[in-house]
Amino acid sequence: MNRVRCLVFNAALGALDYRVPEGMSVGPGSVVLAPLGPRQITGIVWEEERLPANDVPDAKLRALLEVLPVPPLSAPLRRLIEWTSDYYCAPMSAVARMVISSGGALKGPGTMTEYRLSGGMPERMTPQREAAIDALQGEQATIRELSGIAGVSEGVLRGLVGQGVLEPVLVSIDRPFPATDPDFEVPELSPDQHEVAGRLVEAVKAREFAPFLLDGVTGSGKTETYFEPMAEALRMGRQVLVLLPEIALTENFLSRFEQRFGVPPVLWHSSLKSTERRRAWRAISEGNAQVVVGARSALFLPYRNLGLIVVDEAHEVSFKQDDGVRYNARDVSVMRARFEKIPVVLASATPALESLQMAESGIYEKLDLPSRFGGAQLPHIDTINLTEEPPERQRWLSPRLVAALEDRLAKGEQSLLFLNRRGFAPLTLCRNCGFRFQCPNCSAWLVEHRLSRRLACHHCGHETMPPETCPECGEPDCLVACGPGVERIADEVAEILPEARVSVATSDTLNSPERAAQFIHEAESGAIDVIVGTQLVTKGFHFPELTLVGVIDADLGLEGGDLRAAERTYQQVAQVAGRAGRGAKPGEVLIQTRHPEAAVIAALAAGDRDAFYEAETEARRHAGAPPFGRWAAIIISSEDDQEARQAANRLGDSRPQEDDLTILGPAPAPLALLRGRYRYRFLVNARRSVELQKIILRWLGTQQFAPGVRVGVDIDPYSF
Ligand code: ADP
Ligand code: ZN
Repeated sequence: MNRVRCLVFNAALGALDYRVPEGMSVGPGSVVLAPLGPRQITGIVWEEERLPANDVPDAKLRALLEVLPVPPLSAPLRRLIEWTSDYYCAPMSAVARMVISSGGALKGPGTMTEYRLSGGMPERMTPQREAAIDALQGEQATIRELSGIAGVSEGVLRGLVGQGVLEPVLVSIDRPFPATDPDFEVPELSPDQHEVAGRLVEAVKAREFAPFLLDGVTGSGKTETYFEPMAEALRMGRQVLVLLPEIALTENFLSRFEQRFGVPPVLWHSSLKSTERRRAWRAISEGNAQVVVGARSALFLPYRNLGLIVVDEAHEVSFKQDDGVRYNARDVSVMRARFEKIPVVLASATPALESLQMAESGIYEKLDLPSRFGGAQLPHIDTINLTEEPPERQRWLSPRLVAALEDRLAKGEQSLLFLNRRGFAPLTLCRNCGFRFQCPNCSAWLVEHRLSRRLACHHCGHETMPPETCPECGEPDCLVACGPGVERIADEVAEILPEARVSVATSDTLNSPERAAQFIHEAESGAIDVIVGTQLVTKGFHFPELTLVGVIDADLGLEGGDLRAAERTYQQVAQVAGRAGRGAKPGEVLIQTRHPEAAVIAALAAGDRDAFYEAETEARRHAGAPPFGRWAAIIISSEDDQEARQAANRLGDSRPQEDDLTILGPAPAPLALLRGRYRYRFLVNARRSVELQKIILRWLGTQQFAPGVRVGVDIDPYSF
């Protein structure tokens, strides 16, 4: 009898055996539909010996229902799923689901139905229908997506379909993507670029695993450089994956890509419509999507014929996923390249210490672009000691920074003020009774957003209108804003320089590709004098007229003192400084700080990157932190505080005693309440040689957790 083992999309079951019916042909990687009780479940046929065995006798096995019409998952991708599951202590089915379900339903024809307004009106108008019709002008999507856009139920929209107000449109998901031309417009490279590009092209031709760290200062032209190995992979008929940290802000990348290759790449990110998603997924799995540019989830797509992976701004935090399967796309991309036997390029001007260490120990090959393209100079950096040159009361810009802003405005040049805090003020309180607005679901203050007139939680998305009176003491008009956010800085600039055109750039204001594109257009054309932005504006932008960067509070990121505080501060300030003086005019950077003597600030001011990395390396070595030791976090959470605490304490009582391993906790997690769940945390620190994952899984396996308790394992957590 023909019996196969399947990985099924159910974490509790994991692996199940099935009978292959007469006439059906399956092999490892085939995506199948299988019976489970009265229902159907998606599964992937797997090598038997790699999944736990199953003792159901042959005679009792149920038969597979059908093979889905998609190419089987390749062996390298199956190995990647296994590795990710083992390394991050996540169920294999959860990892495999990132591959498959991201493509939406796999069954079905080459078309999907979307709906759009027909122009007709319903016989009977209701407020909900009216709201829906208003909201859906110009939109076309599935009913479920339209319901999200319009904020009404799917039922209301089906009613409108019945009335002919919404009309169906058949969308083909087999439409081909336009072909890229590897030689569309080849730029002349500088000698440095030429050398680096040549080495990468050679690696693509070799068809071997080869990890590279492309370490190039801001403005050195890393993008143009890695376009060359991409072109080579395309000439060889192979696919290329480019991971970018912030897909909403890739306008600049896309236009350069199109200039170089003649057509846009295939995009992959979480806000794609389901028709676009399915179209991209199919084309990727069939090998017809040549270049895919995406957020971290693009790493798990079923490429048919991958030839190269590029991770741009590889140091970015957003490559780390912090829920579900907690993985770091930067690290997993190296593993994918290893299984696929291809080169991978991690590009950054401020590499993570872990990446530099890998290069130093010879595991990654380091390629350097030490100077800016076209002879542009790196900006001049200076600190402003806020204790000696303080701003006026209730102001945040010191006199020297104000003078510099005035100077640029007079010359018609652009300035950028950086503060990594969205909204108007991080804390709002009642001046009468001291009441502080706190999120009901999280241990966090509500942040005032004046532009949208909301108090918002930045952790769970909870929002309320600011009340007229204090909810505690009833005093009217008593709310005071404490501390600055970008909106408040923008107000201050507007007061000091009333003629300046000021623009706030954050994920609130640039929340769609269209708005981002418009902002970039305005900034490039000189229609903005002062940009006030969060970390969103620290990367990727190239505004030639931008000559002044002001860092409002360099100490902000150092508070709390977590593992990566210094590195993060270094990266953010160096990146935002890198926006200045990229054109013909030289740039200046002013860093406001209360601690100009702190090692990281001093290194920034001196432009001495090596000094920073050396000090940081020593600090990490001393603390047994990565890359010298390994850390993991275990988070126990429940909606019931007592239940969470008890589960954590019980787990603590059975902690393993191992050499070279320390377990701290349980202690309330940094966000002790998050989205309505109380959280307790263990931190596990181990020597590199310790088999951390095995020990953690064995330890967790000793416990029976109540149904309301969730256990999350975070290997190589970003911060703690
Ligand atoms: P980085 O990503 O290293 O900060 P960019 O890739 O943004 O630097 O390059 C900086 C600027 O120089 C961009 O405007 C880019 O288009 C331009 N540039 C880089 N290399 C070339 C080249 N070989 N020919 C023409 N322009 C280039
Ligand atoms: Zn919240």
